[in-house]
Order: sequence, then C-alpha cells, then structure tokens
Amino acid sequence: MRVLITGGAGFIGSHLCERFLADGHTVVAVDNLLTGRLENLDPFRADPRFRFVGHDISALLKVKEPLDAVLHFASPASPVDYLELPIQTLKVGSLGTHNALGIAKAHGARFLLASTSEVYGDPLEHPQTEAYWGNVNPVGVRGVYDEAKRFAESMTMAYHRVHGLNTHIVRIFNTYGPRMRLKDGRVLPNFMDQALRGEPLTVYGDGSQTRSFCYVTDLVEGIVRLLMTDEHDPVNVGNPAEITIRQFAEEILALCGRPGTVEYRPLPQDDPKVRQPDITRARRLLGWEPKVDRGEGLRRTMEYFRGLVRV
Ligand code: NAD
Ligand code: UDP
Repeated sequence: MRVLITGGAGFIGSHLCERFLADGHTVVAVDNLLTGRLENLDPFRADPRFRFVGHDISALLKVKEPLDAVLHFASPASPVDYLELPIQTLKVGSLGTHNALGIAKAHGARFLLASTSEVYGDPLEHPQTEAYWGNVNPVGVRGVYDEAKRFAESMTMAYHRVHGLNTHIVRIFNTYGPRMRLKDGRVLPNFMDQALRGEPLTVYGDGSQTRSFCYVTDLVEGIVRLLMTDEHDPVNVGNPAEITIRQFAEEILALCGRPGTVEYRPLPQDDPKVRQPDITRARRLLGWEPKVDRGEGLRRTMEYFRGLVRV
C-alpha cells in the first residue's frame, strides 16, 4: 500500500510510519512540526519508501502520487499543547480533517481518523463503551480538543455516508512510549522527568482520578487491524488496566529506584475523574487486545527517557 499519515513526525504518527514501512508499504508523512520533531523520523528517514512533506494540513494539499490509505493523526494532543494552541487545534480537527478526507476521496483511498477518549469528556458512564455519547463542556478550556475531535468524527461519517468512502474511527485512550516529548506536559513524561531528576512528582488534585495507559505498539497493532476492516463506526483502542494517578506516581518512583516524594497541585479545569476503555468491540471486530503490560511498557519508556534527561 501507499499510505499518507498526517502528524507523521509526532509520537504516535512516527510509530505508525515505522510499522507501515516494516510491513513493506510506502509512506508519506505530512507534518508542520507544530508539536512533532524531525528526530522522530531518524530511524527510517533514509528509507527510499519514505517521504516527508512539511505542510499544515489545515490548508489544502494536493498529492500527485497514488494513495491507498490516509491516516489523519495531525493535532496537538497533550492538554498543555492544546491549551496553548486552541485555534490550531480546532482548525486541524475541522479544516484539517476535511482536507485529509478530501485527499482520501480524490485517491479512492481508505481513511482512518485518530479520535480520542476525550470525546467522552468527564464521563458519567464507566467504563466507556462506544455507545456512550459523552459529557463534554463545549465552552470549557478542553472543549477546543474534545469538540474538534467530535466534529472530526461527524465529518468522517458524513464522507462515508455521502461519498461512500471507506472510513474508520479509532478512539484512542491514553497511550505512552518512546518518542513522547519530554516536556509535552502529559502525566507520564512529567513524572519520568521529575523522577529521573530527583524532583517531587506533581500530582494534580488529590490523585484519585484514574487513567488507563496503553503501550504504543499495542495501539499501532489495533490501528493497522482496524484500517483493513470495513468497520465504519468508532472503535475504542486502549488498555483497560485502570490506575489512579497517585498509584501511577508511586509505580514510576519505584521503577526509578530512588526515594522520591509527591507534591500536590490544583486539578486543571474539566479534568476527567475516571477513564477506562471498554474494548469488547475491538476484541470482537479486530481480534485485538493489548499485549504489553504496564510494568514492561514503563520499563521500556523509562529507558528512552533516561537517555534524554541530563541530571
Ligand atoms: P503529537 O503531538 O506527538 O503528534 C501530533 C503531530 O501532529 C505532531 O507531529 C504535530 O507537529 C502534527 N500537527 C499538528 N497540527 C498539524 C497541522 N495543522 N498540520 C500538520 N501537522 C500537524 O501527539 P500524539 O500523541 O502522537 O497524537 C497523535 C494523534 O493521536 C492526535 O490526533 C491525537 O489527538 C491522537 N490521540 C493521542 C492520544 C495519546 O494518548 N497520545 C490519545 C488520544 C488521541
Ligand atoms: N497529571 C498530574 N500531574 C502532571 C500531569 C498530569 O497529576 O504532572 C494528571 C492530570 O490532571 C490528569 C492525568 O494526570 O488527571 C492525565 O493527564 P494527561 O495530561 O497525561 O492527559 P489526559 O488524560 O488528562 O488527557
């Protein structure tokens, strides 16, 4: 296949590029490097089947070469990033999704949208199934991301219904692994950076809020499988192993092998209290489930961050 990946220089996008190249495909990565980095492409940049295009996908892009699949992953993704970049986030979720769908339509290619567990907002159902419509504050600070992704899902379904495009929507739950930006503000890079420097870990609120963390190679496997189906409705992909943020801090301190402390900070506005994927649909439709447990995933990720943190 010839695959175009928007956001290809980002954390998840670069793992997708690597996986498609390893499977023998040709990859075009489109990225404006807003939150991504060219270094993420280093392991495969010299591959003749890989091409990088520096472009903001919120503006029109004409691609001359034939394409079989378009995966739309461009968007600021960490709360710190999208709170700093609210308009770019709304634009890439709306105009960017429209443009990416337009590219897929022009080439008769499959399309896959990177959606998110944030479409469920601060959920009133737990765990979250795809049938849950969510509890999102449209005018709250997080709304720029949540509503952009909800719009993107709607637009994707409209292209499927109106133009018959073979579209897919993956609702990604918190994913982690090498190539996350050390300073992207998400809980895992923050905690690892702080633990490696011997600084207190900053737990927001009382740390009783929960998340469920999925290792990046597991996510990528789910995405590759979903892309090749004819399933158009959203599918949750995440690891259902749920943990409180306070416990998560303790696990990272233990892994670091140093005595450490925790410091409590105010909880950000609209921070979801719980989050856990129900992956019944992914299991049934894709025969998928996560393989890398948190202990192993955190060890691999800590190894990566150890190489970055200068203490
Ligand atoms: P990331 O910030 O590492 O990657 C996003 C990439 O998109 C970056 O390389 C950035 O430069 C690029 N980008 C942003 N705006 C762009 C634009 N207008 N034009 C071209 N490129 C643009 O984040 P990530 O964690 O790899 O997330 C990738 C995708 O997965 C996002 O769409 C995100 O919403 C989704 N997602 C991620 C998670 C997670 O836990 N990491 C969870 C849910 C959904
Ligand atoms: N969080 C924290 N300390 C940090 C960063 C984040 O306690 O230094 C909390 C945050 O309030 C949220 C959870 O960790 O409850 C996950 O935050 P993240 O920014 O990684 O992503 P989210 O799941 O909120 O999109």
